[in-house]
Amino acid sequence: MKIDVLTIFPDVYESFLTYSVIGKAIHKGHASIKVHDFRNFSLDKHKKVDDYPYGGGAGMLLQVEPIHRALSAIAGMQTAHKIVMSPQGTPLTQEIAQRLSQYDHLIVIAGHYEGFDERVLSYVDEEISIGDYVLTGGEYPSMIVLESVIRLLDGTLHNPQSSVEDSFQRSRLEGAQYTRPEEYLGQRVPDVLINGHHELIRLYHLKESLRRTYLRRPELLVDLSDEETKLLKEIKEELEAPSKL
Ligand code: SAM
Repeated sequence: MKIDVLTIFPDVYESFLTYSVIGKAIHKGHASIKVHDFRNFSLDKHKKVDDYPYGGGAGMLLQVEPIHRALSAIAGMQTAHKIVMSPQGTPLTQEIAQRLSQYDHLIVIAGHYEGFDERVLSYVDEEISIGDYVLTGGEYPSMIVLESVIRLLDGTLHNPQSSVEDSFQRSRLEGAQYTRPEEYLGQRVPDVLINGHHELIRLYHLKESLRRTYLRRPELLVDLSDEETKLLKEIKEELEAPSKL
């Protein structure tokens, strides 16, 4: 996947592009990311890219011209899928990350200051938010979107099965997991995970995933299979049963 990021703070992306899954995806050629400073596309002699809002109002707005000029300079811009980061956009979900991971070329614009001139929207395909809160700039939001997308690209994760089992991937939360030691300060790993065979372990994980989803995000529990319906019934009965204490 080819990715272009437009920002006025390109340095912020340095470690993002180097470490962990993203660094490896770039190294292995699954993703190529170019970060463009759209300040370089300003026609102002001081490379200014912001100005006061018409009609007054607090703060400064990013101007449309340098953003449009920077976009136009990107090879393949016409066919790329173009996103601007905005708290007013569609909230990011795993489903959106999956959809975005299907594109060959993404362009992501990080806003800053009090936002951007509304006309920027005529040059993009969608606005994406990372949640109902406001950050100073779109740099971290764009990294969050890209991280969620790049880890889904073929060959990127060491163990591709892990993303399939991740929360939200199948509209469920992942259940509790354990690693060594078997016991820590009196808390034991469930016996089934140590002694159980494959089928019992599969059932345990499925049931714990359903239990956690039911307790924390019941609205995700749609399209239950017969097996899931049966396990969920058991979970509800267990929760309703009087405590033995
Ligand atoms: N005045 C804007 C508003 O009320 O919608 C908020 C502007 S915010 C201070 C500056 C920039 O940070 C935005 O243009 C956007 O690019 C980015 N940003 C801030 N919060 C965000 C969020 N929750 N999701 C995505 N981008 C965000």
